[in-house]
Amino acid sequence: MKQVAVAQGAAVKKQPAQHQSTQPGHESRMFPQPEYVKPDYMPSQKLLGKVALITGGDSGIGRAVAIAYALEGADVVIQYLNEDDDARRTKQLVERSGGECMLVTGDLSDPGFCSALVERTVRHFGRLDVVVNNAAEQHPKGDIREIRQEDLESTFRVNLFSMFHIVQAALPHMRRGASIINTASVTAYRGSPRLVDYSATKGAIVSMTRSLAKQLIDKGIYVNAVAPGPVWTPLIVSTFSAEEVREFGTDVPMGRAGQPSEIAPCYVFLASNDASYMTGQVLHPNGGEVVNG
Ligand code: NAD
Ligand code: MG
Repeated sequence: MKQVAVAQGAAVKKQPAQHQSTQPGHESRMFPQPEYVKPDYMPSQKLLGKVALITGGDSGIGRAVAIAYALEGADVVIQYLNEDDDARRTKQLVERSGGECMLVTGDLSDPGFCSALVERTVRHFGRLDVVVNNAAEQHPKGDIREIRQEDLESTFRVNLFSMFHIVQAALPHMRRGASIINTASVTAYRGSPRLVDYSATKGAIVSMTRSLAKQLIDKGIYVNAVAPGPVWTPLIVSTFSAEEVREFGTDVPMGRAGQPSEIAPCYVFLASNDASYMTGQVLHPNGGEVVNG
């Protein structure tokens, strides 16, 4: 049976204080290392023969999704901004899990790059079955007046507009049964005082998911989202202070942050034929937070 090495277990309540000064953060520098697959994960060829494009697939949730997809029989394209160390490691893990992996580096705030990314995927693999729009950035600020115009625009470009550009380029290549899965966030539902702009992109992603799902029903293309709660990833250590990192996740009912390995199965389900009666929906792996809407 295919199996990959695993990092730490999931039951840690608090994480050690740490901070990385540049965004995107690097998973390779986090301690402890996030867990990207559960030791007892049992794949069952749910995505056999499929090709998936995963943005921000080098690290965090995207890495866990890439590995789970490979374990389920898919080949993957991983897009990332510039974290070559993490991307190389993920490629290795995907290959060890039985999948082919193509790495593509580039900035999703550029619409031209978004379409080139799709074209490269289709040129290399000859098909595209699953698009996981997962990359994002955030710039925490305690006062809305502190949000810089360039950060505001960049946050919307990367988190939201790139989804439009990628889907526009991908649709001509997607057949009946294909799926689009967008990463939203619990912040879309409960709000986040220090992430007003980021939360706004995530709320827009939920609405976009619902509307696009309805638009694409006749084409047989599924559109769903996942709205994770706090998850131990490079995004956290590169955007929150060391003190915030130490407390990260302790405010949800389970009292801890989740591991990427606990989020990825939602993406497997939504990409598989098991989700054949699901579109326009959001899954909520968030440590027990009850959300409305
Ligand atoms: P991460 O840092 O591992 O992943 C984000 C990725 O986005 C990076 O790997 C980076 O390569 C990519 N990226 C950032 N800016 C980019 C740009 N301009 N162009 C191209 N790529 C760019 O962190 P993560 O937490 O796994 O984030 C994945 C998704 O999960 C994001 O959408 C994030 O908003 C969402 N999310 C995370 C949490 C959490 O607590 N970690 C909670 C809810 C939602
Ligand atoms: Mg990364």
